[in-house]
Amino acid sequence: MNADKVRERLEFYRDLGISTLYRRAVPIGEAAPMPSLALEDDPLPGLAPEGDTLERISADIGECRRCRLCEQRNSIVFGVGNEQAKLVFVGEGPGADEDAQGIPFVGRAGQLLTQMIEGTARKEGIPLLRKDVYICNVVKCRPPENRTPMPDEMEICGQFLFRQLMAIRPKAICALGSTAAKALLATKDGVTRLRGKWHKWRDIPLIVTYHPSYLLRPYNQNAKKEAWEDLKKVLHFVYD
Ligand code: URA
Repeated sequence: MNADKVRERLEFYRDLGISTLYRRAVPIGEAAPMPSLALEDDPLPGLAPEGDTLERISADIGECRRCRLCEQRNSIVFGVGNEQAKLVFVGEGPGADEDAQGIPFVGRAGQLLTQMIEGTARKEGIPLLRKDVYICNVVKCRPPENRTPMPDEMEICGQFLFRQLMAIRPKAICALGSTAAKALLATKDGVTRLRGKWHKWRDIPLIVTYHPSYLLRPYNQNAKKEAWEDLKKVLHFVYD
């Protein structure tokens, strides 16, 4: 990569608000055969180009090979729901079911998310179904063994998440779990500290709540009540 390309890339990341770049450490003598990032000739699209649409973002993702997550994926899981949604849910990354079907939140955690959205809305007298909101993830390809996405994977894929959010311009965003919170709020704080109050992504109000996978664990049942409270708060804000 020549100096101009490096400059162009650094400017692109600066425009995304990314000020930290990571160099992967390769311990001498034990370099694991890690698939390298195929950055050389991948053109970077502009950040939120004029008149951006979900269709265009998906086309720009294409058959993405910008990071190592492409190596084992079956599908790119772009997002699902109402393209003019007033509320967007952002998760971490696809699991096995999502990777197989190409749709976010369709496994056990997804079923719980659907119940949480539709059940809370019904109880609160808000006519809302899952198809009325938009659901997507920080990374669009399944991390192997469902590991947490790495910072460089989040930064590369984050550009597309940011464009999705800019194109939809919802009234509020709900970040599910700490990976989504990290990606959108550039914070190291965990969900327990962040939940229960309003934050902002750019100028859009954002609430953080527990990831549905966390709520599925039997010892986290107390968190369920809090997640329902968070959801009630965001639903009333958006739909009242
Ligand atoms: N967990 C996520 O974060 N996203 C999905 O799409 C499914 C499970």
